[in-house]
Amino acid sequence: MADATLPVLGAKSPRPDAGSLWDTIVNGPVRSRRLGVSLGLNLIPARSKLCTFDCPYCECGFNTPKAPEARWPSPDEVAHSLRRALTRLGTPPDCITFAGNGEPTMHPRFPVVVDRVLVVRDELAPRCTLGILTNGLAAGKPAIRDALLRLDARMVKLDPGPPELVNGVRYDQARLVADARGLAPVIVQAMVTKGSDWDGSSEASLAAWLPLVAAVEPTVVHLYSLDRAPADPTLQNVPRERLEAMAVAVRVMLPGSDVKVF
Ligand code: SF4
Repeated sequence: MADATLPVLGAKSPRPDAGSLWDTIVNGPVRSRRLGVSLGLNLIPARSKLCTFDCPYCECGFNTPKAPEARWPSPDEVAHSLRRALTRLGTPPDCITFAGNGEPTMHPRFPVVVDRVLVVRDELAPRCTLGILTNGLAAGKPAIRDALLRLDARMVKLDPGPPELVNGVRYDQARLVADARGLAPVIVQAMVTKGSDWDGSSEASLAAWLPLVAAVEPTVVHLYSLDRAPADPTLQNVPRERLEAMAVAVRVMLPGSDVKVF
């Protein structure tokens, strides 16, 4: 829901099937449960949802082909859009976050985008945290990993439940965990949901997921469930009491980590 106390620099358009897409490179700012006032950077070609995951809980909807004639924004276009937005805002947001209509690291020139954005951030909003929401699948590529490490905050997805169902694709979880660990200090973000025949909040899912989280050694763990309409309308929310119980188990396993439920 729009926050009337914040200016609107970019709008979302609903998709005809499910979910909605940001229309612009810079979007928000939004008051995020996890990030405070966050200005989003969407690197995905217009009218497209592109991700190497295809999570049924995604608020952008399921993946699409790249829209006809849409293209990846150039690093200079991203930097220019951010410069204009920060100038219009006046008061800087708490953070600038690579997020948007899919996986930001899919941008073919992602490391250059990061460098251009860092220049603008340093000049116009030096106290603002520059972070990313990523699924971490590309974090093993040296150029991507190095770019991610130049950011202030890396929030990597690691959800409980069968990966092919909760994230919509099969992938090598052991490799993902090792790559996420290489991004230290790192924040693990866990979306906990239930499908018709699987349950990310079950004891079995928790038992399988805890060692993965422990192997990443995150400084912070965020646990949350649905807050916006998911791509798959049959997906179910998990009650806060269960999230709190899962958080207790994480704290036992990782006493040095800051574990938060949203
Ligand atoms: S990783 Fe993020 S952007 Fe990609 S499908 Fe999942 S929720 Fe959507």
